[in-house]
Amino acid sequence: MNRPRHILGISGGKDSAALAIYLNDKYPELDFEYYFCDTGKELDETYQLIDNLQSYFGKPIKKLENEELKGTNETPFDFYFKSFRGYLPSPQARWCTALMKLKPFEKFVNGEPTVSYVGIRGDEDREGYISRESNIQSIFPFRRNIWSSDILYKFFNPENKSLVLDLYSSFYHGKRLDKIIDILSLPITFDRNQRVETERIIKHKTNSVLDLGIPEFNRAVFQFSKTIGYPLALEDDYPLLDNEDVLVRDDIFKILRDSGVGVPAYYEKVQYEIDGQKGEYARSRSGCYFCFFQQKIEWVWLYEQHTDLFKEAMKYENTEESFTWVPNESLEELIQPERIKEIKQNHLKRSNKEKAKSSPYLLDILEGTERDGCNTCFL
Ligand code: SF4
Repeated sequence: MNRPRHILGISGGKDSAALAIYLNDKYPELDFEYYFCDTGKELDETYQLIDNLQSYFGKPIKKLENEELKGTNETPFDFYFKSFRGYLPSPQARWCTALMKLKPFEKFVNGEPTVSYVGIRGDEDREGYISRESNIQSIFPFRRNIWSSDILYKFFNPENKSLVLDLYSSFYHGKRLDKIIDILSLPITFDRNQRVETERIIKHKTNSVLDLGIPEFNRAVFQFSKTIGYPLALEDDYPLLDNEDVLVRDDIFKILRDSGVGVPAYYEKVQYEIDGQKGEYARSRSGCYFCFFQQKIEWVWLYEQHTDLFKEAMKYENTEESFTWVPNESLEELIQPERIKEIKQNHLKRSNKEKAKSSPYLLDILEGTERDGCNTCFL
C-alpha cells in the first residue's frame, strides 16, 4: 500500500519554521519533505532562515520553480510581472500567489496522496488553507484540533452519527459515551445560506468532544477518515493522534531561539519617535518585501530600515496607469515627510489604544495585522 507523503512548506515566516523544527524533533519517524517557493523578492532574512533550517535538518529544503522559468535569468516575480505587462498584483488580482506558490506546489504534489502541515497557532482563531484536491489533507499540529474543517463537516454530519458512535464505543462506555451521543445529537444545519451558523456548531461540537479527550477524538477522526479515503487513511497509525500540545506565539519564538535557528530579524521591533513620543514598528510577516498586504507603517519601516529595497519597490509602480502597491497612493507620495509623520501618528494612536484595551503580552499590536493576507505566503 502506498503511504502518503508528509510535506511542509517553509514560507520564511516564524510559524512554518517553528512547525518544521517542532515536527522534526518530535516525530523523527515521519519522513518530512520541506519546500520553499522562492519569488526572488524575499528579504535577506528569509533566505538566511532557509539556510539555517537546512543546516538544522541536515537536508535540503526543496526550492520549487515552474518549468517556464528554467533557463531564464530572471526572478520568478520579474518574469511574471513582465508577462502581465507591468500589472501589479493586488488582493483582488493575486496572480503572484497563483503562479509563484500554488502552481509549483501542485506540480510538487503531483496528484499523490499528501499530508500537508500548516503552522496555524493555538492562539489563532482561523482556518488555514484547505486544498480542494482530495489527495491533499491539511493537518494543524499547533492547535488542539489538528483536523481541517472539511473532514469535521463529514464527521459531524448526522448521516454518519452511528458510524462515529461505533468508533467512539471502542474508547468510551457509560456516561462518557452518553455525552458523546448528546454532542452528536445536537442539531446542525448544512444549509448553504447558514454557513456561519454551521461553522459555529461544528466548532462547538469539536470543542465539546475535545474536552472529553483529545487522543480519543483524534483516533475516532483517524478511523473515520479511513471510511472516506483521506490521504492519512493510508497510514496504519499516526503519531500525532496522541499529541495534546497547544502552541502559542511565545512558544514559536522559544522554539526558534532554543534550536539556534533564530528569529528572522525583521520581527524584532525597532523604536521610532514622533512628537516626542516613542512607538515601535517591525515587519509582521514574511513574503515579498513589496507585498501589497503590508500595512502603511510597514512600508515606512521598509523605507527607513531597508531603503534600497523600498526604492526597488518604487520601480515597479506606474503612476500613469495607476499601478501602485498601495491603493490611491504612490510610494513616492507615501514617503513625503508629512505623510510619514501622519502614518506614524496614526500607528502610535492605534497601538496605544490596543495597549489600553488589553494584551497582557503587548502581543501583536503590530502583528494584529498578521491575520490579514495569505496563509500560503506568510505562515
Ligand atoms: S508575499 Fe505578497 S506579493 Fe509576494 S506572492 Fe505572496 S501575496 Fe504576492
